[in-house]
Amino acid sequence: MTMEVQTPNVQSGKTNTYDAIVIGSGITGGWAAKELTEKGLRTLVLEAGQTIVPEKDYVEHVPVWDVRFRGMRDRQYEKVHRERQKQIGDEWNAKFFVDDLENPYTTPPDQPYLFLRGHHLGGRSVMWGRQSYRWSDLDFEGNLKDGIATDWPIRYKDIEPWYDYVEDFISVSGQAENLPQLPDSKFLPPMEMNCAETHMREVIAQNFPERRLTIGRTAILTQAHRGRAACATTADRALVDASRGRISAAFTRRCLRQRPQAS
Ligand SMILES: Cc1cc2nc3c(=O)[nH]c(=O)nc-3n(C[C@H](O)[C@H](O)[C@H](O)COP(=O)(O)OP(=O)(O)OC[C@H]3O[C@@H](n4cnc5c(N)ncnc54)[C@H](O)[C@@H]3O)c2cc1C
Repeated sequence: MTMEVQTPNVQSGKTNTYDAIVIGSGITGGWAAKELTEKGLRTLVLEAGQTIVPEKDYVEHVPVWDVRFRGMRDRQYEKVHRERQKQIGDEWNAKFFVDDLENPYTTPPDQPYLFLRGHHLGGRSVMWGRQSYRWSDLDFEGNLKDGIATDWPIRYKDIEPWYDYVEDFISVSGQAENLPQLPDSKFLPPMEMNCAETHMREVIAQNFPERRLTIGRTAILTQAHRGRAACATTADRALVDASRGRISAAFTRRCLRQRPQAS
């Protein structure tokens, strides 16, 4: 299907024609745009938020002595603008979180919901914690067994190849554990546990054989993968930007590389 967009193009005065239009550039829209452009479709992504320039806007490598409040956060600002999002994010990434005052929302009093939003290129892929876990049939069958809502139309086997496909691109590191409730991925090497964590894992295994302490599964590169560099360190503050699973960086580069030349 071809859609014609009658947006004013003030520079050329021409009408642009696209095969697909994607609204929003978060993980969902970003991935859709990646797939569509890779298949050769002329794709327009409409993003309501501002553009992000990774080299300028990703500042987590800035040392604590170079940020305004020395990492202690702008508490006066937060009192007014972070009414709901207390303790979310930090002084480095605060700018990515939507201002609660400018963008208020309500929930029923007995159903509070913390709605964290990011209105910029990449959406919440810019702020997400990168923890990446597969669902198992325990999850897919949970509501059926509990008699809640509608049964999922798919099971783990249906989605397993797609987990493989996506996780290879976002690059998930972790330890394979062969647990039915937490299916393994094709992991990059796991991050190393420290000696206290290793000891705890061993003690738990000895005393509770049915329990397992495992390292988090996360879309942070522990080795170079698909042309992206490995993280310089696993310390949260010192991550190298290009190693993180961010749509704005990885997907945009991918889409731009794949985009068909304008005719
Ligand atoms: C702090 C934080 C930590 C998280 N940690 C994890 C984690 O560790 N693991 C995990 O699995 N998930 C995590 N999540 C959740 C995960 O990030 C989100 O579920 C996911 O990124 C949502 O992607 P999305 O594309 O559906 O939506 P979004 O990322 O919200 O993208 C929507 C995009 O659409 C744009 N948009 C909205 N309206 C319009 C419009 N009318 N026109 C054009 N554009 C529009 C927005 O600006 C935005 O860019 C975390 C989220 C946050 C905030």
